Amino acid sequence: MHIKTLILGAGLTGLSTAYHLQQFGESDYLVVDRAEKPGGLCASQEVKGFTFDYSGHLLHLHSDYGKKLVKKLLKNNLLRLKRKAFIYTGSSRIPFPFQANLFALPPEQRQACVKGLLEVNSEIQKKPSNFEQWCLQRFGKPIYEQFMRPYNTKLWECSPKELTCEWCGPFVPRPSRKEILQSAQKPLKKSYGYNVCFYYPKQGGCGALANALAKELTGLRTKSPVTQINLKNKTARFGRKKVFFENLVNTLPLPVFLKLLEKEPRLTALSDRLAHTSVNVYNLALKKEIKPFSWIYFPDEQDPFYRVGLQSGFSPRNAPDGTSSLYIELPGSLPQNTHTEKRIWEALLQKGIINKDDKVLFSFWQRIPYAYALYDKRRAQTVSRAINALKKAGCFCAGRYGKWEYSFMESSLLEGLELAKKLI
Ligand SMILES: Cc1cc2nc3c(=O)[nH]c(=O)nc-3n(C[C@H](O)[C@H](O)[C@H](O)COP(=O)(O)OP(=O)(O)OC[C@H]3O[C@@H](n4cnc5c(N)ncnc54)[C@H](O)[C@@H]3O)c2cc1C
Repeated sequence: MHIKTLILGAGLTGLSTAYHLQQFGESDYLVVDRAEKPGGLCASQEVKGFTFDYSGHLLHLHSDYGKKLVKKLLKNNLLRLKRKAFIYTGSSRIPFPFQANLFALPPEQRQACVKGLLEVNSEIQKKPSNFEQWCLQRFGKPIYEQFMRPYNTKLWECSPKELTCEWCGPFVPRPSRKEILQSAQKPLKKSYGYNVCFYYPKQGGCGALANALAKELTGLRTKSPVTQINLKNKTARFGRKKVFFENLVNTLPLPVFLKLLEKEPRLTALSDRLAHTSVNVYNLALKKEIKPFSWIYFPDEQDPFYRVGLQSGFSPRNAPDGTSSLYIELPGSLPQNTHTEKRIWEALLQKGIINKDDKVLFSFWQRIPYAYALYDKRRAQTVSRAINALKKAGCFCAGRYGKWEYSFMESSLLEGLELAKKLI
């Protein structure tokens, strides 16, 4: 089989690349995925009348084209929602983000945060060499110790000292020093962060977007795991089948892709320098309605999870009437077993998210093996070496995992457009 453009992975990035190629009149492409259905992490699961995503998958659309494309694909199957997010720490419930809502802390903690920030000398600051320094310079030690350190240690499963600060850009809200201090007096009028408002499909969960893209494609093949790539001969193997390509697009996790390369020992060796985290998700369906919220952060060490979201809160169609569904995100190193479940239940009860007499309809686990590319000191150089070498060999890497970065679904859609333009 000979294909002009072979696209590995039918997640949002692969689907968007194929969709845009087709929009430009190019039909000589094939997008392949090992899964049974397209969508990758943006797919949704229907379980007993409930819709679950792979943890929360909300559409953060900030570009005109991103909005236009999603509206075109989903038509009127789209809701716009306002974030209702909190942080539970100790016995306090604080609106998100912590650093812009100091008023909600107990007086002693609040005063400590103000004092800590005032102690930061904003004039003599050198470039932060890691995420810990970045936080200390911006927020002071108490805010770092109370929220930034424990939360990020859970999320990244390493010390913030081991992380660079390249990823913080859109992901860590940055109120000014003046605003942080004002937030200790009273709630601020301004909202912070990339997710103040977001979009979500009315029906079908986030997977509705991936399905809408997939429906348009003529060259999509699922249940086709790629097993080997030869960049010199321009061939990809799918078990015993071989495909010849002119252009190759990779959206698989970069270290996975590097390991598929035949006779490229230097490139393959780079895969061991790329670290990542995994995420375990425990999903719960309850026979009761829960007071609406979007998601809650849990920085405290004794809580096994770092975030809990109300899946049924994103769309009334995600759960039947009179029921609710929660997704509970845990570090990937915590095993999916009854001991962890017991800890989850105890923490949910203790925090008042569920009650002892609530009826549980069902629960199930999901695993996201590649969740966050780890921004350690080796990442930037390794990624740029690998991606540049692959580009020279006619292979373009794209998407959160292909480019080994921290990004959103909107970036997948936009990268698909840009890549299609390049390939055309
Ligand atoms: C916990 C979590 C929460 C998130 N929440 C949000 C959110 O709320 N909003 C947001 O915008 N973004 C969110 N994201 C990011 C979002 O999931 C990604 O940006 C986006 O889905 C990436 O799409 P992709 O196509 O690049 O990768 P993927 O969706 O991972 O697609 C890659 C595809 O490659 C396939 N594949 C793997 N190996 C092979 C093989 N050997 N052969 C063939 N196919 C293979 C996989 O089956 C998969 O379908 C979240 C991510 C995580 C981990």
